[in-house]
Amino acid sequence: MRDQGQKAAQTRLTLAELPTPLEYLERLSDHLGCEIWMKRDDLTGFAGGGNKVRKLEYLMAEAVAQGADTIVTSGALQSNHARQTAAAAAKLGLKSVLVLTEAVTGRSAAYENGGNLALDRLLGAEVIRLLHGSDSVGEQEAIVAGLTDAGRSVYVIPTGGSNLTGALGYANAAEELEVQLTERNLAPARIVTASGSSGTQAGLILGTDIPVLGISVSSSEAELAAKVGAIVTEGAKLARFAGAADRAITVDDRFVGAGYGQPSDAMLEALHTVGSLEAIFLDPVYTGKAMAGLFAHAREGRLTGPTVFLHTGGMPAIFAYDDVI
Ligand SMILES: *Cc1c(COP(=O)(O)O)cnc(C)c1O
Repeated sequence: MRDQGQKAAQTRLTLAELPTPLEYLERLSDHLGCEIWMKRDDLTGFAGGGNKVRKLEYLMAEAVAQGADTIVTSGALQSNHARQTAAAAAKLGLKSVLVLTEAVTGRSAAYENGGNLALDRLLGAEVIRLLHGSDSVGEQEAIVAGLTDAGRSVYVIPTGGSNLTGALGYANAAEELEVQLTERNLAPARIVTASGSSGTQAGLILGTDIPVLGISVSSSEAELAAKVGAIVTEGAKLARFAGAADRAITVDDRFVGAGYGQPSDAMLEALHTVGSLEAIFLDPVYTGKAMAGLFAHAREGRLTGPTVFLHTGGMPAIFAYDDVI
């Protein structure tokens, strides 16, 4: 395990445009009465940007090193991770198979075919749709077995690219942020991020001792903290991250609303406020709910000192929520 991690730590492709900007959000800060900075990982540049690009620099390096010709990954229909994986596969000349579950019920026609799904088609991905409530693990195993039987060499990326290899992208992002903070002589009290499959939050915790507040977009606090903790524990076995073993794992699950991908009033307020004050687009599934969490913490008087909000991307999903935006 130790050797594998260290090997992965050394192998990385270049997909993202780095460093991403760190910006002071003056009008939003005035609006909330707090000092808010934004790390613009919506601007990682590759195929629509977003946080998965940093993870894929490590995951795809591993896939190439293993001689894979086919990448299989999974997610919801509007998965940004699946779109970015399909993009990385296209760029590297690999086949991508996206196993997408209709996990978000009651959405519009645009959700079923537009947004990220339109981009997946342009990227040449094969999309396999699973019905709500299906055994996605079993179905994916059968798909991988079928591809292998057909002579393909398959590399499977977990949902959201969230394992230690993927999280290395966010340990790096944290180190990149530290350099920008030093340049500005800035010492933030916290980083706020959307947290879904947990790799982004785990990577940040490995890479910096600045407290990280993960706003859950799907799971309960206990469930998500356990997922983050598992990656942090594994990572902390590497010499590079030895200091991370005892760092706090902080999750707030009050902003999930009716469920993953389901719109909430607080999410819509965040999208409209940040759009109209800062000309920055948040997305309905992740960053909108994370920003709703930041707003609530500001109103609860908890945001003393500077806060860095990590913008993890997701813009294409806006076009799948035209019915509520
Ligand atoms: C995947 C994703 C996240 C969550 O990152 P995890 O590493 O899965 O927790 C946040 N924002 C956007 C836009 C995403 O696509």
